Amino acid sequence: MEYRKFNKLSWQPSLLGMGCMRLPLQTNGQIDEKETAILVQEALAGGVTYFDTAWPYHGGESERVMGNILKNYPRSSFTITTKLPSWLIETPQDIEKYFHLQLQKLQMEYVDVYLLHALDKKRYDHLKSLDVFTHLDKLKAEGKIKHLGFSFHGSLEDFLYILNDGLKHFEICQIQLNYMDISHQQGLIGYHELVKYDIPIIIMEPVKGGNLAKLPADIEKPLLKYQPDKSIASWAMRWLFSYKGICTILSGMSNLSQVKDNLLTFNSAKPLNQQENALIEEVRNQVIKRTFVACTGCQYCMPCPMEVKIKNIFEQYNKMYTYDNFKKEGLNLITKEGLINNCINCGVCLSKCPQSINIPQKLAEIKNNLTKI
Ligand code: SF4
Ligand code: SF4
Repeated sequence: MEYRKFNKLSWQPSLLGMGCMRLPLQTNGQIDEKETAILVQEALAGGVTYFDTAWPYHGGESERVMGNILKNYPRSSFTITTKLPSWLIETPQDIEKYFHLQLQKLQMEYVDVYLLHALDKKRYDHLKSLDVFTHLDKLKAEGKIKHLGFSFHGSLEDFLYILNDGLKHFEICQIQLNYMDISHQQGLIGYHELVKYDIPIIIMEPVKGGNLAKLPADIEKPLLKYQPDKSIASWAMRWLFSYKGICTILSGMSNLSQVKDNLLTFNSAKPLNQQENALIEEVRNQVIKRTFVACTGCQYCMPCPMEVKIKNIFEQYNKMYTYDNFKKEGLNLITKEGLINNCINCGVCLSKCPQSINIPQKLAEIKNNLTKI
């Protein structure tokens, strides 16, 4: 296991971190604590020292379960990250209230990293208006927070605003990055900003929510031919190894075989060579080609008089179509959020789309395709 050193951190994190958002479940949907304990033990034995949880994970149960399990290990043998549920903060008092509730759930005296969770400009400005840094600096001074940072899922514009404004407070930052998302959210531009400011980077979604762990058969074929004994997920992890500034790559491990596969990949920690990078480049090109509708997400077509969420529907359907991954939750998102059935083919949106997409026609095609699943 690699442990990278960062000036801004008082410890060296393990390059592989355990994300605690997809813990093993029992048949009733509750976290399987016994199985989770086995995963944690295996991870620690394999050199993982970094654990990442948050208030909303598993309906609030992730922090409690991780606290129950980690209390059996010396506090110095691991680091724990949790996050301020920024969307729930209404008053300045809420900041410390939630933090202390989290400490209670974790059964710990302090957290190693505390992140302002899933910031965008609006949330950041709101938290600042509640004097968030005064409260968190106080908790730091009391030794209850070792390092402060933020996690992010918004636009590049919001990312640069938050980073530049909060620079003197942030010691660490968690972003989504993988070989398919180089221009998504903050993308590589945001990554390079963090490197410029020497801010240690935690990577989430290295396999894009599982999509890069199992690619469509024709696309993953060259990878399997090149390395038959290596998992498809390992390619996505290794793509990240060469990016400096990354302190930890989180993997939301749900079973023992995922833990073992990750340990195998991280214990050799070999970045992709030139030939391997070319193969991933080709995978990226093939995936991009498999786009059902060339929507750029600009939203010029909105609002639709029938409240069809055109951009959301196209984005979600593209994701499922590209990776051949029609999971129930994805389908639900389209039908629940999208009100796809509301389209009355009025044509109001047609002239607004700079990509000349025949929106009602594409919506009808998606609707038709969904009935065949
Ligand atoms: S054609 Fe459909 S999606 Fe477009 S504006 Fe009309 S109802 Fe909305
Ligand atoms: S205007 Fe066209 S490209 Fe922009 S979000 Fe609407 S459908 Fe997509």
